[in-house]
Amino acid sequence: MVRGPAARVDFLAEAKRIEPEIIRTRRVLHQHPELAYHEVETSKLVASRLESLDIEVKRGVGGTGVLGLLKGAKTGRVVALRADMDGLPIQEAADVDFRSKNDGTMHACGHDTHVAMLLGAARLLSEHRKELYGTVKFLFQPAEEHGGRGGAMPMIKDGAMKDPKVDFVFGLHIEATRRSGEFGVREGAIAAAPDTFKVKILGRGGHGSAPHETIDPIYVAAHVILALQGVSARMIDPVRPFVITVGAVHSGTKENIIPDIATLDGTIRTLDEATRKLAKKKVGDVAKGVCSTFGASAEVEFEKDAYPVTVNDPETTEKVAAILRRIPGTRVKRVEAMLGGEDFSRFLQKAPGTFYFLGSRNPEKGCVYPNHSSKFKVDEDVLKFGAASLAMIAFEFGNPRDPSQER
Ligand SMILES: [Zn+2]
Ligand SMILES: [Zn+2]
Repeated sequence: MVRGPAARVDFLAEAKRIEPEIIRTRRVLHQHPELAYHEVETSKLVASRLESLDIEVKRGVGGTGVLGLLKGAKTGRVVALRADMDGLPIQEAADVDFRSKNDGTMHACGHDTHVAMLLGAARLLSEHRKELYGTVKFLFQPAEEHGGRGGAMPMIKDGAMKDPKVDFVFGLHIEATRRSGEFGVREGAIAAAPDTFKVKILGRGGHGSAPHETIDPIYVAAHVILALQGVSARMIDPVRPFVITVGAVHSGTKENIIPDIATLDGTIRTLDEATRKLAKKKVGDVAKGVCSTFGASAEVEFEKDAYPVTVNDPETTEKVAAILRRIPGTRVKRVEAMLGGEDFSRFLQKAPGTFYFLGSRNPEKGCVYPNHSSKFKVDEDVLKFGAASLAMIAFEFGNPRDPSQER
């Protein structure tokens, strides 16, 4: 390996030095989770920590978001690092002694660890600002868990990716199903476009004893639900990932009344725009076709502004993988794409970058429950790896001479 200028800083050793602080911060956040767009105390903590590091801070970016700006002493690129901050509406049942103090709210997706790791990276980078090329932007984002209305878009609308324009953007997610200390990377599509839809079936109500005088929307809804699975089974190329789920059915009030209307709420997940477009059209066609067969009509609506597919830039991802491979005590694995959605996709539409994972599964410590479980528990020993990785990525991508090319 050529010892490029970036190799001079041992960010892992430095992350180990501040590990107690990273864990302490994480636990404070874990005890005080806040739901999407209500990250008031979290934002305050983030802003005051950044200010204490002499990092320029903008509050209220995209709602409760916080933007930090760290200028290096040397000219270089603008690198953005993102951490989402919101918790989930879950009653915590994890066996930790820093359990959530906010009833019914829990950091069950590990966004507390994201904030703590990024604050750790901010400290490391601020301590090396004399050697730092370019500018690092810290994007502390609200409301990632907020369906199609996540905080990335409002932050972008508030100018987070401009002035100075971001050249590269990176996001890290803790993953409880991956082994502790294992990084997961993937070039290309890594998370799905989650498109929410509603089918309103318009029938004609009447007496339960005389269905022939009605158009029963519940009966029609049953056919629509079954037929929609045919979009997956018979209309979409099976080598292209696609899933359709109807997660809510609403109709009726009483056993002997045939109602006028039934509604279905569902979601489709795709990993490429062509399949996405085709699937949306087919869902509409099938729902309308089945309804008209039985004399009913259908109104089909897809949520506007749903998250796009999260697409990692291949070249950038390869460089990130090379950086991660230099972190002792960790492993790097190429992962499969997931059909969950991620609004980090919005940032990736503005600049090349990559979204990567850090495993925190450790059966010996009881860290075996998946993200979004009420028993979700993180192996905190991995937080130093995450913080070091973010600092290394910002440090190396900021350098226009691109030492990450050196092997
Ligand atoms: Zn989540
Ligand atoms: Zn998450």
